Amino acid sequence: MSDIHERRAGDLLIRIDRDLCVGFGDCIEAAEAAFELDDEGIAVFRAGIDEVDRETLLAACDECPVDAISVLDADGTQLVP
Ligand code: SF4
Repeated sequence: MSDIHERRAGDLLIRIDRDLCVGFGDCIEAAEAAFELDDEGIAVFRAGIDEVDRETLLAACDECPVDAISVLDADGTQLVP
């Protein structure tokens, strides 16, 4: 079974495919308020994601080296990866 976490932030729908995440933490370095590693060392959302501006979020999601994070806008257009 896939382990996917989804979160809305503004007009963005962000999806972490936790089966793909390898826990390097690039997304966290880019947006500490938005992401963190859980006890298993896999990325999860933080409540502070709502405080992170759109461009920072998009850049952070785009940092993922294994494309574990995808982002759709309100129209369903995929912005990342
Ligand atoms: S950048 Fe990608 S692989 Fe690294 S912690 Fe974030 S989601 Fe996981």
